[in-house]
Amino acid sequence: GSLMEKVLQRRSLQMRNMQRAWEESPEGKKMLQARMSLPAFREKERLLQAIAQNQVIIISGETGCGKTTQLPQYILESEIESGRGAFCNILCTQPRRISAMAVADRVSTERGEPLGESVGYKVRLEGMKGKNTHLLFCTSGILLRRLLSDHNLHGVTHVFVDEIHERGMNEDFLLIVLKDLLPRRRDLRLILMSATLNAQLFSNYFEGAPMIHIPGFTHPVRAHFLEDIMEITGYKLTPFNQVDDYGQEKLWKTQRQLVPRKRKNQITVLVEDALSQSSFENYSSKARDSLSCWTPDGIGFNLIEAVLCHICRKERPGAVLVFMTGWDDISCLKDQLKAHPLLGDPNRVHLLTCHGSMATSEQNLIFEKPPPNVRKIVLATNMAEASITINDVVFVVDCGKAKETTYDALNNTPCLLPSWISQASARQRRGRAGRVQPGECYHLYPRCVYEAFSEYQLPELLRTPLNSLCLQIKSLQVGSIGEFLSSALQPPAPLAVQNAVDFLKMIGALDEHENLTHLGEYLAMLPLDPKLGKMLIMGAFFRCFDPILTIVAGLSVRDPFLLPQDKKDKASTAKSRFSAKDYSDHMALVRAYEGWKQAEREGSAYEYCWRNFLSSQTLQAIHSLRNQFNYILKDALLLEADAGVNNRLSHNQSLVRAIICSGLFPGIASVVHREASMSFKTMDDGQVFLYTNSVNKQYQTIPYPWLVFGEKVKVNNVFIRDSTGVSDSILILFGGGLVNGASPGHLKMLGGYIDFFMDPTLAESYVSLKQELDQLLQK
Ligand code: ADP
Ligand code: MG
Repeated sequence: GSLMEKVLQRRSLQMRNMQRAWEESPEGKKMLQARMSLPAFREKERLLQAIAQNQVIIISGETGCGKTTQLPQYILESEIESGRGAFCNILCTQPRRISAMAVADRVSTERGEPLGESVGYKVRLEGMKGKNTHLLFCTSGILLRRLLSDHNLHGVTHVFVDEIHERGMNEDFLLIVLKDLLPRRRDLRLILMSATLNAQLFSNYFEGAPMIHIPGFTHPVRAHFLEDIMEITGYKLTPFNQVDDYGQEKLWKTQRQLVPRKRKNQITVLVEDALSQSSFENYSSKARDSLSCWTPDGIGFNLIEAVLCHICRKERPGAVLVFMTGWDDISCLKDQLKAHPLLGDPNRVHLLTCHGSMATSEQNLIFEKPPPNVRKIVLATNMAEASITINDVVFVVDCGKAKETTYDALNNTPCLLPSWISQASARQRRGRAGRVQPGECYHLYPRCVYEAFSEYQLPELLRTPLNSLCLQIKSLQVGSIGEFLSSALQPPAPLAVQNAVDFLKMIGALDEHENLTHLGEYLAMLPLDPKLGKMLIMGAFFRCFDPILTIVAGLSVRDPFLLPQDKKDKASTAKSRFSAKDYSDHMALVRAYEGWKQAEREGSAYEYCWRNFLSSQTLQAIHSLRNQFNYILKDALLLEADAGVNNRLSHNQSLVRAIICSGLFPGIASVVHREASMSFKTMDDGQVFLYTNSVNKQYQTIPYPWLVFGEKVKVNNVFIRDSTGVSDSILILFGGGLVNGASPGHLKMLGGYIDFFMDPTLAESYVSLKQELDQLLQK
């Protein structure tokens, strides 16, 4: 009680003395000067007053105006100044771990302290905080995790939720939980911060909480679209039917596919009009040289290179910020640029990167001013859109894409797919060029494509399948899923929620009372679609981990088998060579991946990919995902330390087939042989067709009664993409209910299925494994 009080008072006085000493020092004065020039400073008193008088406030302001680094710091400083420094406890969440770390680093520098003193950070698996830390930057995931065990946020005085305009799943999720907490913690202050002006939405959500806008100033930025860029760089365009290599084919295809369905026809015409005048003449051969160097969606790296060359040769001084979709692209592009005579010359160009997995030492480089006559080029993900500000940017290159996160409240999820950004995002990116002087922005897509972008990005909560989310809600123990989600800022449709709950029951992640099963608890930990998560866990338990790991990684990235429009036959033939008569696209993937690893060791990975129509970039991504999943499963103690044990049954094809089935069920079609023809039927859609490059397409008959598949695609007909043949016994034992409802009867029956295990002795080890599994997974 009072002793503690005394200690804190003494510490508060120390903190005040230290703060004053810093403010008096020459460096401190200089720092203060810089901080005072930020727009946020002019609003400081108003902000502090509003925060003192209201439990919730919403603050908006141009990116870079000083929200993240200044506002939490103002509170800390004023508490310290009033001799209460040791009594306050400020949390500030960031959507990404890298910004939490960067911002904490910056704020501690501004305070003239080492990181981990009064200012610290905490992100998953890493942190820097001490007993004197009173301002903590953390990811939203970390705060959610804390709320799990500390429902009232004991001892916390202020919570800042930053970047709420992004409408990330974690942030929307946090707001539900915090809104519920506020009446129980009348003294707690909640401050929401956002870059753009949709503050009203949040204000309404918090019963009319006051909004404060920090006015800022930016310079005008000129927008160039693909049409203009073609002219500037001298690249020309090819009519559609003359396009003859992967890259171009993909580029065109993407341009055509990107538009919302209802406007598709209209836009297709526009895009073709915009692009059909001439050709990427020199482009073909160059593109062929860098087959692997394409963004997943086909904006050519060479195009970016041309734009950068143009800027370096012709434009005025100023840093360049290039928005890419992710780390893989950034590192590929960087490799390509390094080989360039101008862009790769360190005396003329500083080539830097800014993405979620960069090292802290690298971070500081991006803020530094380069020497005169050296141009700074920063290749960044969309984290440079709002959470990180590089002051000297004058040129922005925008590829128009971002990776959308899949949901994961407790871990930082790597599982992302690139998709087109919103108009708001494109404007935000453009705005980054106008911080210090008028700027230029190069959008690598036609203007009509920009016009077809949606105005705002849909909140993550409404665009991500709820299967994973519902698992997370359950593991946070916040009661009924439906009720919880109905209090979101923009709640998902009840039907979507019901579907997700039904699905989770069906795969055995929830029991009939909607409680998490043990399997569900494990699945909640995996940053993966629950179906694939289940496949992965099953692969681990049944000791055939490695092939399943490749399949799951492959299914959660994208297909590494390329299918160029004009070389469909050749590409399909190349893929069929990986089939080895096992009637499985999934196993073909495993072989292709293993072949690539082998080729890599022999130094012939490039030829291997080229010959087999494989994307080495995708294989690379599969490789890194494999490592991540492997790590997570080890961390969760789902794998043995000895890889040999985990793979004891990896050579058993029937078992691998069974595990594929256990993950993909209910994606299942029956194989119907009639006269000389073969057709496929699912339960709901009736007839389905095999996808163009399925290895199963080459056969007249398939000696399995069923095909399991991961994905259906509707074009004119419904196609199933990757498929694997399975027997009745596999379907009975591994389709759906195995984990939740296996009985001793099942096990006996299993022993009898010799076709299932070609080697009968394996049945024994299956039975013992199965028992182990049941013990672990059943409550
Ligand atoms: P906001 O959150 O409003 O977007 P920040 O608080 O992140 O703005 O940044 C405010 C300003 O602080 C930036 O405009 C930039 O000038 C400066 N700044 C931020 N981080 C650093 C850093 N690591 N090094 C130098 N300056 C920085
Ligand atoms: Mg910020």
